[in-house]
Amino acid sequence: MIKFDYLEPTTLKKAFSLLGKHGEDARVIAGGTSLLIMMRQRLLMPKVLISLARIPKFARIAYNAKDGLTIGAGARHRDIELSPIVKRHYPLLHETFRKVAQPRIRNMGTIGGNLAAGDPLTDPGASLIALDATVVLTGSQGQRVLRLDEFFVDYYQTALNPGELLTEIRVPPPQRHGWSHIKFTPRSVEDFATVGVAITLSAKNGVCEDVRIGLNSVASTIIHARLAEAVLRGQNITEARLRELGEVAATEVDPMDDNRGSSEYKREMVKVLVRRAAQEAIQRAG
Ligand SMILES: Cc1cc2nc3c(=O)[nH]c(=O)nc-3n(C[C@H](O)[C@H](O)[C@H](O)COP(=O)(O)OP(=O)(O)OC[C@H]3O[C@@H](n4cnc5c(N)ncnc54)[C@H](O)[C@@H]3O)c2cc1C
Repeated sequence: MIKFDYLEPTTLKKAFSLLGKHGEDARVIAGGTSLLIMMRQRLLMPKVLISLARIPKFARIAYNAKDGLTIGAGARHRDIELSPIVKRHYPLLHETFRKVAQPRIRNMGTIGGNLAAGDPLTDPGASLIALDATVVLTGSQGQRVLRLDEFFVDYYQTALNPGELLTEIRVPPPQRHGWSHIKFTPRSVEDFATVGVAITLSAKNGVCEDVRIGLNSVASTIIHARLAEAVLRGQNITEARLRELGEVAATEVDPMDDNRGSSEYKREMVKVLVRRAAQEAIQRAG
């Protein structure tokens, strides 16, 4: 491991001051599950690590019926998975966090570190897109709020500016009660997804009122499948429409060949899994 100084500010203000002081030499660390691997591989070589672990309320999870859910960026995967509030009001999130890696990683890794890494293979981003979530980015000069599909820019690239921190994730009150999450991991349940699909949907009298779809592991970043949504939104739900939904979703993705499968294989799986996820969400929507 490379040599570095380790600093533990106890307020956000101190964290920003340290970030300003050390500039490009510094990197923030939350759970360290991604960052330490990159440092061992010499992909990142910060001279200073600024820990976010001692900042008060950084891991807070709160809910009210008017504003919905707020999750502090320092909340660990396991905190979210086990939160009774999340389980009750956002079953899609409970299901998603239950499937992230294995308990060892879930007990260390944070939602902020997961999203800030900008890794297209990770799960929470797609489900948060399906739930219309926004992220709060805070810098020494103030805050800005972005939708997640604006936040994810490209491969390991997000809209975070140097010196900015992801401080909070906001999820509006649940609007669509049908949901489904499919994490397709043919190699091992603990693996990253070969294809990940998250969907929320509302339906009445056989008509889809509204739908949101997030996909991971199928492009250089986590994506919002807008064209597919347009196929179903406001339409009668039929088998043919659901097949078209999957086919259109497959035109929105651009998967990479890797040890989890070829680009063609993943595209075919998007067709199948988006259709299946929609069927499950429709059943749950009643
Ligand atoms: C073996 C293994 C298996 C995994 N499997 C899965 C999986 O199945 N599904 C899945 O979704 N993920 C998986 N992951 C990824 C894991 O979820 C992430 O590593 C974890 O969420 C990152 O969080 P962290 O707190 O450890 O971040 P860190 O490693 O501390 O940081 C990651 C990056 O984010 C930056 N950062 C951290 N917090 C903030 C912040 N608040 N604001 C701005 N920048 C910040 C850091 O500077 C760093 O660049 C796996 C990881 C491992 C090691």
